[in-house]
Amino acid sequence: MYNPKSSKAEEFIDNEEILETVKYANENKNNKELISEIIEKAKLKKGLTHREASVLLACEDKEKTEEIFRLAEQIKKDFYGNRIVLFAPLYLSNYCINGCTYCPYHKDGSIARKKMTQEEIKKEVIALQDMGHKRLAIESGEDPVNNPIEYILESLKTIYSIKHKNGAIRRVNVNIAATTVENYRKLKEAGIGTYILFQETYKKDSYEKLHPTGPKHNYAYHTEAMDRAMEGGIDDVGIGVLFGLEDPVYEFTAMLMHAEHLEARFGVGPHTISVPRIRKAEGIDVSDFVHAVDDEFFKKIVACIRIAVPYTGMIISTRESKKCREELLHLGVSQISGGSKTSVGGYAEEEPEDENSAQFDVVDTRTLDEVLKWLMEMNYVPSFCTACYREGRTGDRFMELCKRQQILNCCHPNALLTLKEYLEDYAKPETKEIGEKLIEREIDKVPNEKTRGILKTNLEKISNGERDFRF
Ligand code: SF4
Ligand code: SF4
Repeated sequence: MYNPKSSKAEEFIDNEEILETVKYANENKNNKELISEIIEKAKLKKGLTHREASVLLACEDKEKTEEIFRLAEQIKKDFYGNRIVLFAPLYLSNYCINGCTYCPYHKDGSIARKKMTQEEIKKEVIALQDMGHKRLAIESGEDPVNNPIEYILESLKTIYSIKHKNGAIRRVNVNIAATTVENYRKLKEAGIGTYILFQETYKKDSYEKLHPTGPKHNYAYHTEAMDRAMEGGIDDVGIGVLFGLEDPVYEFTAMLMHAEHLEARFGVGPHTISVPRIRKAEGIDVSDFVHAVDDEFFKKIVACIRIAVPYTGMIISTRESKKCREELLHLGVSQISGGSKTSVGGYAEEEPEDENSAQFDVVDTRTLDEVLKWLMEMNYVPSFCTACYREGRTGDRFMELCKRQQILNCCHPNALLTLKEYLEDYAKPETKEIGEKLIEREIDKVPNEKTRGILKTNLEKISNGERDFRF
C-alpha cells in the first residue's frame, strides 16, 4: 500500500498509486477548470503533489500549456535568477559487471575498457582545471574488483589535492552504483558534494528486464539507495530517470513520488533532478526504444518538474543539443555540463579513432569557453560557484534558504565572483570582454548595499591575483 514514509521501495514507489495517477491525469487532460486551479496553486511557488503535476504534464490544451511554460520560466527566475552553474563529468573507469541493456558499459559490451590510475586522474584534473572547471561529477561503472570503494575514495583525495596554477576542484559530486550505508558514510567523510544515482526506470518489471544481470538487477536495493545515503549522512542527493526507457508520464509521476518520499522520511527533498534521455551510443539504437521522448514533450517534462519542485536544481548534460539546451534553460534547468568528454581519460588525451570508451555520444561538442560565451550572450551569468557545500549549507539548511528564495542572495554574487576568476585565468579575449561588461551590469542588480560593497572589493582583489571568495 502506498506510504511515502515507508522505507520499502514498493511502498513509497507504489505501482498502483502511479497507475491511478496516470489514469487520473489522462482523464483530466482537457479539464480546463482543474488545470487552472492547479496552475493557481503552483503560482504560490510551494510546489505541487505528484497527482497535480501529472495533470499539468498530460494537459492537451494549447493555451494552458503555454501558461505552464510561462510559469515555469517565472519560477526559474524567482528561485535561480539568471545564473547557470557549470560542471564537468569525469569518467574514472568503465569496468562494469552489470548487464544494463541500454548502456555500452554493460559487462558484455565491446567497448574499450579503461580504468584510470591516480597519475592519469591527476592529468585529467589538470586538463579540467586548465579549462576553468571547479565542480566535477565523477562517474564509474560497478565492479567491486576493479572499482572498489577504496578506489573511489583514493580518487577523491587525488582530485581535491591538485592545485595547478590558479585552478582547484572545489566540489566533487559522485555518481556510482547503489551501495551500503557504511560506504555512503565513507563518501561523506571524503567530502563529496551530491551523491547522484539515476533510477533509470521506476517501473519494476521493466527495470528487471532492462537490468537482467548483476547487482543492479535488485530493484529494491537500487530504489532504496538514497535512503541509505541519507542514513550514511549524505544530505544532498540527486535523482533522475533515463527518459525513453518507459512511459514518461509513469516515470515523471514516480520520480516526484521519490522526491515526496525523501521529504516525508528525512525532511529534505532531492538536491537535484537530472533529466537524461536515451541517446545514441556504441551498440545502442534509439529506435529500439518505443518510449523515446521527442523535444516538445521533453520541454514539457522539464517545465512541469520546475513547477512541481521549485527548490530542486535541475541538470542537463551535453547529451542534448545547443538548441534544446537553450530552450530548457528558460524552462527550468539550473545546471549544465560544458566541454564534456564521456570517455575514460578523454580530457588529457584525444581517444584514438579505433577505440571508443564513451558512455554516450556528446551532442553539444562546444568548448567550455564557447558555452560560456553563448550563455552570456543570452544574459545568463555562468557560475562556477561551490559555496554552499563549503559553507556547510547542505541538506535541510540549504532547503530552508532555497524555499524562502533567499539562496539567490548568495548565488548571484558568487556567480559573479567565480565568473571573474574564469575571465582572469582562462577566457579567450572576446569572452573576457563580454564577461567584464556583463559583470559591470550585474553588480548593480545586487539589492543589498553591504553585499554589493563586499562584492566590488572582492572582484577587485581577484583582478589583483587573489582567489576563492564566497558568500
Ligand atoms: S548504466 Fe551504469 S551500471 Fe549499467 S552498465 Fe552502464 S555503467 Fe554499468
Ligand atoms: S550559492 Fe549555493 S546554491 Fe547558489 S550557486 Fe553557489 S553552491 Fe549553488
